[in-house]
Amino acid sequence: MGHVTGLKCRECGRLYAVEPIYVCEFCFGPLEVAYDYKGIAGAISRETIEKRGKNLWRYRELLPVDGDPRAGLDSGFTPLVRAGNLAKVLGVEELYIKDDTVVHPTLSFKDRVVSIALTKAMEFGFDTVACASTGNLAHSVSAHGAKAGFKRFIFIPATLEASKIIASLVYEPNLVVVDGNYDDVNRLCSEIANRYRWAFVNINIRPFYAEGSKTIGYEVVEQLGWRAPDNVVVPCASGSLLTKVWKSFREFRDIGIISELRTKVYAAQAAGCAPIATAIKQGTDVIRPVKPNTIAKSLAIGNPADGFYASQVVRETGGYAEDVTDQEIIDAMKLLARTEGIFAETAGGVTLAAAKKMIESGKIRRDESTVICITGNGLKTQESLQGHTLSPHYIKPSLASFEEALKNINRG
Ligand SMILES: *Cc1c(COP(=O)(O)O)cnc(C)c1O
Repeated sequence: MGHVTGLKCRECGRLYAVEPIYVCEFCFGPLEVAYDYKGIAGAISRETIEKRGKNLWRYRELLPVDGDPRAGLDSGFTPLVRAGNLAKVLGVEELYIKDDTVVHPTLSFKDRVVSIALTKAMEFGFDTVACASTGNLAHSVSAHGAKAGFKRFIFIPATLEASKIIASLVYEPNLVVVDGNYDDVNRLCSEIANRYRWAFVNINIRPFYAEGSKTIGYEVVEQLGWRAPDNVVVPCASGSLLTKVWKSFREFRDIGIISELRTKVYAAQAAGCAPIATAIKQGTDVIRPVKPNTIAKSLAIGNPADGFYASQVVRETGGYAEDVTDQEIIDAMKLLARTEGIFAETAGGVTLAAAKKMIESGKIRRDESTVICITGNGLKTQESLQGHTLSPHYIKPSLASFEEALKNINRG
């Protein structure tokens, strides 16, 4: 029932059968899922999609699963918010927030990738799922893995936010805290994945897992009334999400769901971890690994697996990239909350702050349509705002005390 034809090496094009593998044996290039697009074009249309449930499985022909969804049944179809108040502040005409802070069970876009990864892990017959995580993946695999009945091994760097650790532990996975940064955790997990027959969602299941990110792009096109935006701004950790947003638009064009595609893709990173943005700004293909130091921990990957491909997409589409300081991240989180009532995690601050910079510099045109991808909820990174918000007004439980306080409140 699926339309997957196999796995294909991104470098040499060699084809492999559908198995839990992720790297080409011949050239060590990454493997990517290949589809029969003719078959898909015959199987779905705007009308068939519109009749389906409001979750990411409405695009199932374009996802690498054979049977019915078996995890994350209610993930996806998050709001696309017309951001009029924010547009006014930024001086642009047509601005949207793709709001992945809500709807998803664990409140970040990672529920998209994990829904596909765990469904696929079940199809492959694994009983244990695992991941190397910068926080949101840990939360999502812990939760969806519990519901789906998997044993779970979750590996995280020691520096993660307390709220993300608790949010994972409540689902009772085996949480392994590694004394190192994400890149150390990921390297260790590659070794573990070689030794144990576990479904590491972002290692041996990665080709399938990564495809889940395409659903954010499908939704944007559908929610814009079946058109792709002029510009899309995407946060980068490994760079995978950015490449998949572009892939989703291209696929929709290739199977005839949309006829036109002129979207420019823009990358957003924190200045304290900007290997992809730096390469793009310097006009090179070479991604130089860095040691991350930023409050945007969910994006803190110093050696990004898909960095090269992400920079290629940005270049090919005529986009650009920006990196922003921790202070700019905090200011943008507050700006988004104040104007649109959306509380984003630090990664959302990165994306908005980078978009703002690129609008101000003219890299993003003010008269074009722009979608900003906000990928995680602010309740997950509350400590980053400690000391950066307004203070509450403390009073006694009396009208007099309230009116005394009111004298000092700006009621404008
Ligand atoms: C994981 C993550 C991303 C991007 O991840 P990629 O590795 O680039 O696909 C963006 N935002 C949030 C909140 C994340 O957790």
